[in-house]
Amino acid sequence: MSTLETPLKKELGDRTANALGKAFGMESVGDLLRHYPRRYVVRGELSDIAELAELPEGEEATVLAEISAVNLRRASGRTILEVVVTDGSAKLWLTFFNQPWREKELRVGRTGMFAGKIGSFNGKRQLSHPDYQLIPDGNDVDEAVAGFAGKFLPVYPSASKLPSWKVAQCVEIVLDGLEELPEHMTKELLKDLGYPDYTRAIREIHQPTSLDAAALARERLTFDEALLLQLLLAQRRAEYRTHSAISRRILPDGLVSKLESLLPFTLTDGQREVSKEIELDMQASYPMHRLLQGEVGSGKTVVALRAMLTVVDSGGQSVLLAPTEVLAQQHYKTIVKLLGPLAEAGTLDGSTDGTQVVLLTGSMSASAKREALAKIASGDAGIVIGTHALLSTGVEFKDLGLVVVDEQHRFGVEQRDALRSKAKVPPHVLVMTATPIPRTVAMTIFGDLEISTLRQLPSGRIPISTHVVPVLEKPHFLDRAWQRIKEEVAKGHQAYIVAPRITEGESEPEGMTDQDREIAKLLDAAADAETKVPMTSVEELAPRLATGPLKGLKIAPLHGRQSIELKEATMSAFAQGEIDVLVATTVIEVGVDVPNASMMVIMDGDRFGVSQLHQLRGRVGRGNVPGLCLLVSAVAEDSLAMERLNAVAGTLDGFELSRIDLDQRSEGDVLGKAQSGVRSHLRLLKVLRDEPLIEKARTVAIGIISLDPHLEKMPELARAVQALRQEEASTYMDKG
Ligand code: ADP
Ligand code: MG
Repeated sequence: MSTLETPLKKELGDRTANALGKAFGMESVGDLLRHYPRRYVVRGELSDIAELAELPEGEEATVLAEISAVNLRRASGRTILEVVVTDGSAKLWLTFFNQPWREKELRVGRTGMFAGKIGSFNGKRQLSHPDYQLIPDGNDVDEAVAGFAGKFLPVYPSASKLPSWKVAQCVEIVLDGLEELPEHMTKELLKDLGYPDYTRAIREIHQPTSLDAAALARERLTFDEALLLQLLLAQRRAEYRTHSAISRRILPDGLVSKLESLLPFTLTDGQREVSKEIELDMQASYPMHRLLQGEVGSGKTVVALRAMLTVVDSGGQSVLLAPTEVLAQQHYKTIVKLLGPLAEAGTLDGSTDGTQVVLLTGSMSASAKREALAKIASGDAGIVIGTHALLSTGVEFKDLGLVVVDEQHRFGVEQRDALRSKAKVPPHVLVMTATPIPRTVAMTIFGDLEISTLRQLPSGRIPISTHVVPVLEKPHFLDRAWQRIKEEVAKGHQAYIVAPRITEGESEPEGMTDQDREIAKLLDAAADAETKVPMTSVEELAPRLATGPLKGLKIAPLHGRQSIELKEATMSAFAQGEIDVLVATTVIEVGVDVPNASMMVIMDGDRFGVSQLHQLRGRVGRGNVPGLCLLVSAVAEDSLAMERLNAVAGTLDGFELSRIDLDQRSEGDVLGKAQSGVRSHLRLLKVLRDEPLIEKARTVAIGIISLDPHLEKMPELARAVQALRQEEASTYMDKG
C-alpha cells in the first residue's frame, strides 16, 4: 500500500516515474495526486471541437471525438495519413507522417481521445503530432484500458509523451494501491462545511462518480489551500500579539495636535477614521502591523505623518521608507513643509519643542550621510526618510518606534523585516500602498496585516477626466492634444507627457520590476499583434515637441538614467512652476505631487498596465484645478488593448481597475514575489475567482486560531500549516 510520500518509482517503475518527474517535477505519489484534472469529458459525449477555435495555436488540447474520415496518401516520398475527427458538427484534422500502419486501428466510426498541439494548415484546425487513445468499444473487456474505466474521463494538464490519458493511467494505478489518507480537518468541521473527507475528495476529483461529486471534491481541496494559508496568516497575526512593543500615545499638547492646527486643510472623514485605527493600534502593548491602502491622492502622507509624530510625541523615532530617490526626496520636502516650524528643533531660531526630519539616500555625499547617521543615532532626528539605503548596516536608531513603508508592492517582506530588526523592541509597522487591490487579494498578500482603506478623496477635488486618443484612426487628435497643453499652460498650469522609453529603439521601458516585465510580456504579445508602431521615447519626443507643436513652452525631460542631481533639479523646477511641460518616463509614477499640474498626455498608453495608468494620471488634478488625462495609442479601435484603455477612461475606481489588471495576470503575478513560497502551495485556489471561499476560509481560520492558537487539538492541521510555513521560509532563504 502506498501513502502520499511513497516515491512514484516504486508504484510506476523508473521509466514512467522519470517521465513524470521531468515533465511536471513530480517525485511522490502525493505530487501526482495533486496534479488535478482540468475538466472531464463524459464517455459517450463528444467534446465541443468548435471551442478549440478559441484556444491559441500551440496550446495542448485533448478532445473526445469520433473518426469521420481517413485518407492515406503519398507526397514527396513520405506517407501522410490524414484523419478527420468530429464532434458531430465541427471537424478537426489530424496528420500522421510515415505511420501508415495506424490506418488499421484508426477506423471510421471509432471514438477516442486525441491530444496534440493546436495548429492550422490551409485554414483548417489541426492537431500536429497527435497522440490518441481509442475508447474500447462497448463491453469489450479485453480491450479495457486503464484510465478509461469510469463514465467521466479526466483531462489532465499534459506534456508531450505524457498525454492526459497516460497521466490518468498512472493516477489509476496509484489510487488502486493507496492507503486511507490522513485527514487534517476534524469531523465536525467537515460536517459543518459539508465537504467529503480528504481520501474521498482525492478519489472523486480524479475518478468522479458524478460531476457534482467532482465539483464538491474540487471545492474542498481548494478550500484546503485557502484554509491552510489563512491559518498561517492568522497564526502570524496572533504571534505578533505575543511580541511586546512600546505603547505610543499622543501627548495632549504635543506635535500631533500642533500639526493638526497647522494643516492648511481639515482631514477627511476617511483620514480621521484611519488615523484613529492607527492611533489605537499604536497604544497597544504589541506591535501594529497595518496596511493602509488608498486611492491615489486620497491623502495617505498626512495620515502617515500623524502616526510618525505620535511616536515622536512619546519620545521615539519614526522612519519612512520610499521605493525611489525621487519619492524619498519628495516625501522629505512635503513633510518638512507640512511641519513648518515643527521641523526645526535644534536649529538656530527653531522652536525647541519640534523635531528634526532627516533624509538618507544612497546618492548623498559621504559627509551629508555621516551627518544624517549621527542624528539618527542620537535620536535628534525624530523622523527619518529614505530609500533602501536605510536598510544598510551602518544605520542605527536610538529608539525606532514606527516603520512606515510607502508603496509596498515594490518592497518584499524581507525589506520590511530588515528595517524592523533595527529596533530594539519590535516597532509598529504601517505599510502604505497606492495600488488599490481587491479585498481577497489583500487578504492573501497582506493577510498578516490589518487593513485600513481610504476610499474618499479630499472634498473640493474635481474628478479628473480621461480620454483615449486613437491616433491610428484619428491622427489629427494628437495635434488637438498638443493644442490643449498650450491652453493649459496659457492658463498658468503645467503638464506631464509620459513616454514608455528613455531612448529610441530601447528594448524595455525604464524602471521595470520583474512583475512589470511579466505584465509587459503579456501586453507585448497583445500589442505586437495589433501595432508595429515603435514606442515613443523621452529623448526623441522632448526636442521634437520643443521645436514643433509646443514651441515656446519650457520643456524638460526627466528619466531614470539622469543623474540624481539633474532629476532633483528638474523636479523642483517643475514644482516651482519654472518648467511648463515635463516629458518623463514612469519615474513620475508614484507619489509625485505638483498640484498646479492639470494635464497629462500618456504616449503609447497601451504599453502600460491598467493600474499603472491609473497611478500615472493620479499625478494631475491634485489641486483645485480640473485634471485632464489623454491616453494616446495607435492600437486598433476594436483591440483588447483599446478595451483596456477605455476601461481606464471609463472609471476612476482604482479597485475596479486593479481587478481588470489582475484578471489578465497569472496567479503568480497577482501574488507577487513576496509570497512565492505560498504560491507553489496554491494549485487550485485563484484569489480573484475564489473570493467567497477565501472569505469563508478566513472566518474559519480566525475561529480556529482564537480558540486554539497552536492547533493543539488539530495535530494534522498543525502539521500541514507548519509544512507551508517551512516551504515559505525556505523560499525566502533561496532568494537571500
Ligand atoms: P496619496 O494618498 O496619493 O499619497 P497625498 O498624501 O500625496 O496622496 O495627498 C494628495 C494631495 O492631497 C496632497 O497635495 C495633500 O496635501 C492633499 N491633501 C491631503 N489631505 C487633504 C485633505 N483632507 N483636504 C485637502 N487636501 C488634502
Ligand atoms: Mg503617496
